[in-house]
Amino acid sequence: MSTYATLGDTLEQTVDRYPDRDAIVYPRRDQRWTYAEFDERVNRLANAMLDAGIEKGDRVATVLHNGSEMALSVYACAKIGAVFTPLNFRLPAGEIEYIVNDAGAELLIFEPETREAVEGARPSLETVETYVSLDDPPEYALAFDDLLESGGPESPPVVVDEDDVYAFIYTSGTTGRPKGVVHEHRDMVDHNLLCIAEMNVTRDDVGLSVMPLYHCAELHCCLFPRVHRGATTVIHHEFDPQAALEAIEDHDVTLLFAAPTAWNGLSLTAAEMDVDVSSLRLGLYGAAPMPAQVLENCREHLCEDYLQAYGMTEIGPAGVFQRPEDQLSKQGCAGLPALNHAVRVVEPDADPDREVERGEIGEILIAGPCTMREYWNRPNATDRSLRETDGKTWYYTGDLGYRDADGYLYVVDRKDDMIVSGGENVYPAEVEDVLFSHDGVEEAAVLGESDEEWGEAVVAYVVADEAVSADELDAFAIESDQLADFKRPRRYYFVDDLPKNPSGKIQKFKLREDEADVEPEAESIT
Ligand code: ATP
Ligand code: MG
Repeated sequence: MSTYATLGDTLEQTVDRYPDRDAIVYPRRDQRWTYAEFDERVNRLANAMLDAGIEKGDRVATVLHNGSEMALSVYACAKIGAVFTPLNFRLPAGEIEYIVNDAGAELLIFEPETREAVEGARPSLETVETYVSLDDPPEYALAFDDLLESGGPESPPVVVDEDDVYAFIYTSGTTGRPKGVVHEHRDMVDHNLLCIAEMNVTRDDVGLSVMPLYHCAELHCCLFPRVHRGATTVIHHEFDPQAALEAIEDHDVTLLFAAPTAWNGLSLTAAEMDVDVSSLRLGLYGAAPMPAQVLENCREHLCEDYLQAYGMTEIGPAGVFQRPEDQLSKQGCAGLPALNHAVRVVEPDADPDREVERGEIGEILIAGPCTMREYWNRPNATDRSLRETDGKTWYYTGDLGYRDADGYLYVVDRKDDMIVSGGENVYPAEVEDVLFSHDGVEEAAVLGESDEEWGEAVVAYVVADEAVSADELDAFAIESDQLADFKRPRRYYFVDDLPKNPSGKIQKFKLREDEADVEPEAESIT
C-alpha cells in the first residue's frame, strides 16, 4: 500500500485545499481554470484515454508547443499511470521516429505546427495506435477537444503507486542520441518539495511558463511545484519577450524561469518598453551560467533576485542551486547542493570515494532522491552512470567541475569534450570564451583532433565574418593573455554554421564524426 504521494495526488491535494483558486491561465485560448475546473478536465482526459485503450504503463507521447493541453496531458497520464513522453516540438521527422519507436508509444498527441514532421515519421511508427491532434485533425486522428469531452469527470479507477513510472523524459541529445530517462512518481513529489522550498513558492504566486514544457526544467521546476502548492500558472504558447513582459504586468506574475539568452532578450526589451514588472519577485535560470552583464541588466530592468539551477534530466533536473544571496559574490558559479542532495567531485570515472582536493577539477557526481530509475532500453549506459556507495546512488554527470574553498561548485566543461594536448588538460569552454569575445566571431566550438605530435591538437570551428583569419584569431588569443600556449588552437575551420540540437546546444560529437567525412578546409597558424 502506498503511503507516499503520486503526481496525480499532488493535484488532488491542491483541489482539496484550494478548489477555487486559479490553476491554469492560457490566454491564447481564453482559458482560465480554477483547480476544481482543471482537475475535472484532467479526469475527463484520463478517462477518455482509458476508453481509447491506454493502460497503466503504456506510453503517451506529445509533440506540442506550450499550452493548457500539455498541462492536461501530463496530469491525465499521471492519474492512470500512463507514461508521459514529451518530445521537443522542433524535432524533424527522423528524430520523432527514433524517440517514439524507442519509447514504444501507443498514443501520440500533435498539433498543426508539428503535423508535417509527425506525418513524415508516421509510416515508420509501429506502436502508435491512436493519433490525437489539436485543431483541425486529419482523418486518421481524433480531435483533442472531442476526446476530452468524451471522458467522464470522475476520478479514474486506476491505482497508481509512488514507485510507478511517471515519464520517459528524453535528454537533449547534446552528446549523442537522446536517451529516455525513466522517472518515477516519487522523484517528482520530492523534486516538487525541494523546488517549493528553494523558491518559497506560496499559493499567492503566479508563474509564467514561456520556456518549453516538454523540457524538464519548465515542467518539473516550474509547473509541478506550483500545482502542488496551489499557485497559478500562466502559459504562453512560445517565448516572445514583449508578450512575456506584458503578461507579467497583466497577471501580476511573481515567478519566471528562462534560459540566460532569453533573460538577455527580456532585459533588453524591458529597457525600451513602458511596462510595470514590479510584481516579479524571483527569476530562475539554468542550462548555462548567466553572463555578468546580462545579470546586471536583469537586476536593473526586471527584478533583483535570481536563482540558478544546475542539473540534468537524469537527476530531476535540479541538484545544485546558486541562491539569490550569492548571485553577486560568486560569479560564474553553479552554487551549493539542493536540499536533500549531495555533491562530490572525483577523478573522472573513478569510484565515488576517490574525491579530489577542493579547487581541483574532476567529474561531478550528484546523489539525491529524484534520480532516475534508469535509461530506457540502455542497461549499459545505466550501469555506467549510476553507482552505489555507502547507501547512496551517485549519478555520474559527465560534467567536469570543482568546488572552491567554501564548497561552491563551478562547472568547467563536459568530460567528453576535454582535450589532452601534449599531456596538458585543455577545457574547450575556456578557449571558446576567449574566441567569442572577438567582435568578428559569431560562434565557436573548440575540440581535440588526433595529432602525432600532441596526442590531441586543439582546433576551433568558427562561424565568423569573412575578414577574420586564423592568424588574426591567434594573435587575438595571445593578446587576451588568458590562454597558455598549449591551449591556443593550432588550426581553425571556418564554417557557415555549427551542428546544434533542437535546444540550441552545439553537438560536438557531430563535428568529430565529420572529421572522417567531408572536412572543411583548415587554416593552420602560420
Ligand atoms: P545529452 O545528455 O543527451 O547529451 P544534455 O546533457 O544537454 O543532452 P540536459 O539534461 O537537458 O541534456 O542538460 C544537462 C546538461 O546541461 C548538464 O549536464 C550540463 O552540462 C548543462 N547544464 C545544466 N545546467 C547548467 C548550469 N547551470 N551551468 C552550466 N551548465 C549547465
Ligand atoms: Mg546529459
